[in-house]
Amino acid sequence: MRVLKNENNYLCSYNNFDNDLDNKLMKLKIDTNDLEQFDHIGDNHIGTSFDTPMRDDAFVLNDNEKIEIIRDDVKHIMETLGLDLSDDSLKGTPQRVAKMFVNEIFSGLNPEKKPKASTFENKYNYGEMLVEKNITLYSTCEHHLLPIVGKAHVAYISNGTVVGLSKMNRIVDYFAKRPQVQERLTIQIVKELQRILNTEDVACVIDAKHLCVNSRGIRDIESSTVTSEFGGQFKQKDIRTEFLNYLQLDTKF
Ligand SMILES: [Zn+2]
Repeated sequence: MRVLKNENNYLCSYNNFDNDLDNKLMKLKIDTNDLEQFDHIGDNHIGTSFDTPMRDDAFVLNDNEKIEIIRDDVKHIMETLGLDLSDDSLKGTPQRVAKMFVNEIFSGLNPEKKPKASTFENKYNYGEMLVEKNITLYSTCEHHLLPIVGKAHVAYISNGTVVGLSKMNRIVDYFAKRPQVQERLTIQIVKELQRILNTEDVACVIDAKHLCVNSRGIRDIESSTVTSEFGGQFKQKDIRTEFLNYLQLDTKF
């Protein structure tokens, strides 16, 4: 879909710039108010729900079928931009992008790829906070499909159940591999760990750069976005401060 904006109205065309705009807009069930809303949501980075919005038929197609369709869509975008896909360098790009979307950067949309929740009994009775910090995070902004790169810091206080350390990295990675808004990603990580560990006492802080802010739009390369979610005991000031103080530790090996 191509959208052209002028002062009072929007022109929307689809597939080879069809001129029958009213018809197309009706088919797409888009009116000009919706289009204004799209801009507003994207420009202001507003998330609309805590669960990733998914279609009911999200998994009717298998991964290979999705790759085939996306390959043709990417080809169409590139040709629309005027690129010559017979060039050796560009020829394989639609296939590469389609595979990357399905198998890598958006693979976390598929619940089958969620890390298995293997937990252990807290036999050594460690009753203090456990912090897994500086978890490298690569995600994708759902408003612009540009990268989000940063660090996640996760903590919990065990109520009898513990989880393998790398499991926390894997959970961060799973929810990051979706089109995301950072606030939702932070909450999804906390909710999943609360479920696995059977406790409310879980916290997560994410500090990340959004390339849609750093490389386009306002183009501020220095700014980063910090989000946090504090569950259970982490809502208490002293517990929260303890967690945040650990994040200040300079860990170098
Ligand atoms: Zn964005």
